[in-house]
Amino acid sequence: MSEEKTIFKKIIDGELPCDKVFENDRILAFKDIAPVAPVHLLILPKKCIESFQQMESEDLALLAEVGQVAQGLAKEFGVASGYRLLTNCGAQAGQTVFHLHFHLIGGRDLGPMA
Ligand code: 5GP
Repeated sequence: MSEEKTIFKKIIDGELPCDKVFENDRILAFKDIAPVAPVHLLILPKKCIESFQQMESEDLALLAEVGQVAQGLAKEFGVASGYRLLTNCGAQAGQTVFHLHFHLIGGRDLGPMA
């Protein structure tokens, strides 16, 4: 992994601003800067993990917590009846920021997956 901080690490460290919607010691969530739907949130572990594929067994609790945070935010943002929760893993899947994050997308008819 590159030694240079990712944009998300800079946001976690408070060096760049974000529109924060949730934070605790382990997880941060904020609004995506280029939303593809009325609700487009990013939920990420603060721990530097490059992508889903780099997760290790010790990170499983973080994954569960991301899920809990996603459920709470889906309710809070009024999309609990239907939303997409996804992570792009690797450049070929469209990952552009190499700090593990999950997109919570909703608020319109999302249609089939591409
Ligand atoms: P990926 O393509 O890696 O799955 O998702 C990266 C996401 O981060 C994109 O949806 C992009 O719009 C968002 N993003 C990139 N830079 C920033 C930023 O500086 N602030 C925020 N809030 N979102 C960002």
